Amino acid sequence: GFSKSLGQNFLIDGNIVRKICEEGNIDSTDNVLEIGPGIGTLTEELGIRAKKVVAVELDKNLLPILDDTLSQYENIEIVHGDILKIDLSKLFKEKFDGGSIKIVANLPYYITTPIITRLLEEEIDIDSILVMVQKEVAERMSARSGSKDYGSLSVFVNYYTEAEIVLNVPKTVFMPKPNVDSAVIRLKVRGERIQLKDKETFFKTVKASFSQRRKTILNSLSAGLGMEKEELKDILLKCDVDPRQRAENLNIEDFAKISSLIPPSFIY
Ligand code: SAM
Repeated sequence: GFSKSLGQNFLIDGNIVRKICEEGNIDSTDNVLEIGPGIGTLTEELGIRAKKVVAVELDKNLLPILDDTLSQYENIEIVHGDILKIDLSKLFKEKFDGGSIKIVANLPYYITTPIITRLLEEEIDIDSILVMVQKEVAERMSARSGSKDYGSLSVFVNYYTEAEIVLNVPKTVFMPKPNVDSAVIRLKVRGERIQLKDKETFFKTVKASFSQRRKTILNSLSAGLGMEKEELKDILLKCDVDPRQRAENLNIEDFAKISSLIPPSFIY
């Protein structure tokens, strides 16, 4: 049967699978890394459209099923392993002969955010990530400043990528049916990112800013970084940020400016 601990809800609707590939602009020039192919529904459609597909699956019980379903596709290769432990640069070098790499995944929701975080932080050379996530997570990842979903995850994702929800997915297209609504989000990796003085200071500043959502940026940053309010107020004013604003109304440029003025002693 299905493994609950591996978060196995399989896609069973051909229309959705085709739509996912269309929204991801998967075409015959693309190398695709699929994470968690399951029983291979999406994998097969990817194989039809892409140049090459490498799919990494953790559950060895699924390997015979995948072999069976996908044996006729010479451009699909299944790798048994844990995506969190695999050396991806090495895998890419071994399996793909140049060209752009797109990552496609419908993963257990509890490991989706850690995996996306890792893929982005490691700055491996990929074109985009097309991933099914819980609807709320998709909304938080793609939120713009001023919206209620906007938070440190939004800023993190926005730093590395352009995020766009491309498809809302009903529960009924899965087997077994999950308890939550899903959405497919496309994260297009940025060629050029906003200039930062120091990345760690930037992300710590963002986290501290959102640590107490209801408070002013002055109060939450002061508490989060352990900095005197007077010193912080000067920094905020220098950045043209009203100290009474809330973090949710600041954009990525504001955070970049503020963080460039935070002394390293409050970070390290
Ligand atoms: N992509 C398939 C689909 O859409 O029908 C399967 C989706 S199911 C939600 C998630 C799949 O990810 C399962 O097949 C599970 O075994 C696999 N998986 C879970 N953790 C994994 C990991 N760390 N590395 C690789 N695959 C994993």
